[in-house]
Amino acid sequence: MELLHSVNDFNEAKQVIPGGVNSPVRAFKSVGGTPLFISKAQGCHLFDVDGNRYIDFVQSWGPLIFGHCDSDIQKSVYDAIGNGLSFGAPTELETTLAKEIIAIYDGVEKIRLVSSGTEATMSAIRLARAYSQKDDIIKFDGCYHGHSDALLVSAGSGCATFGEPSSPGVPKDFSKHTLVARYNDIDSVQACFETSKNVGCVIIEPIAGNMGLVPADIDFLQALREMCDKHNAVLIFDEVMSGFRASLKGVQGYCDVVPDMVTFGKVIGGGMPLAAFGGKDEIMRLLSPLGGVYQAGTLSGNPIAVSAGLASVCKIKANPQIYTHLETLAQKLVTGLKEAAKPHKIPLQTCVRGSMFGFFFCDNAVRNFDDAQKSDTQMFAKFHRKMLEKGVYLACSQFETGFVCTAMDDAIIDAVIHCAEKSFDEISKGI
Ligand SMILES: *Cc1c(COP(=O)(O)O)cnc(C)c1O
Repeated sequence: MELLHSVNDFNEAKQVIPGGVNSPVRAFKSVGGTPLFISKAQGCHLFDVDGNRYIDFVQSWGPLIFGHCDSDIQKSVYDAIGNGLSFGAPTELETTLAKEIIAIYDGVEKIRLVSSGTEATMSAIRLARAYSQKDDIIKFDGCYHGHSDALLVSAGSGCATFGEPSSPGVPKDFSKHTLVARYNDIDSVQACFETSKNVGCVIIEPIAGNMGLVPADIDFLQALREMCDKHNAVLIFDEVMSGFRASLKGVQGYCDVVPDMVTFGKVIGGGMPLAAFGGKDEIMRLLSPLGGVYQAGTLSGNPIAVSAGLASVCKIKANPQIYTHLETLAQKLVTGLKEAAKPHKIPLQTCVRGSMFGFFFCDNAVRNFDDAQKSDTQMFAKFHRKMLEKGVYLACSQFETGFVCTAMDDAIIDAVIHCAEKSFDEISKGI
């Protein structure tokens, strides 16, 4: 497989863009090798600039539940473009999309559209702090909520304490308002509430997809709900990834825990820059211009992005059976991977939630970030490289989630499992 053009493109990009990429994970740092430069895509396939074709399990990191170039989504984008790219004034489409999401998600009575998941969580936290009139927040080790200062915080010396900045440039003065708890561990949340009497909100990926795929237990989410109620803290479900992905209703398809606020992104934009945060009216009404909590965006609710998002959400609503189909495909895939690894005594932990799938190279079930970090990242890197050579494009890190799309079928999954068998075989033989 020739990658000459990608190698050249990467070198050229590095002259003008830090690391050659506009979002760090794209650089393939944790698996090595050159990131593929993409020329086009169709359905479940990506094509790189050298003309190689790949089966794509990244799907733009989640947004493309119908695969690339879905004709309905593209048509709505083309139609919208004809009317102008941006107005900086309200459009009817925004209200329609807001109504669609509100009708599906419990606890979301009002919603505001933004352009990225980062903006959605950052704004949700500002609002939650204003509503609760408390400054401290709790997040979970291994959960990712975008790159705003308050959320680029890791456990530091251990869980259930105030966090440490996980990036240079985040002042300690900011990170000291963020406590970090252990995922799926209600005692660590309790400990955070004991450490700080000033916790105004708890933010969680209820189906974590940014430490690999690690769902929260239902009883853990229920306990979290009770604890937030007891301490008057706002519970935010960050469903930027899981919303419309794990099920039509995100985590709400799996349990009846109702959060105070929900953040959305990825699928709701259908591949365009669109995200949202919503919640109870009594919270959302504090938002400017009704209330004093400031939040704004020149391109918020952009008509092209909203058209793509609305087409995506409406197509999902018209075809709710896709989740069963996608879950079957994802389950078939991870079962196949596990079977392929078994003869070589390579341990694999797998997980599926709707169209999301994950696999860890480790011996024990993964329930939190500490568990996830026990996985064999060297093995992952080898596997990733082997699969890529065979035309299978997996997320380039052990700590990411994979996505299937409706453009995939049984034959595609069979082909991928066959590639996995060959890959594990080669890895065992040291090829
Ligand atoms: C992707 C993601 C974000 C950040 O969204 P961006 O659009 O990349 O800023 C936030 N939270 C979760 C759970 C995500 O998966």
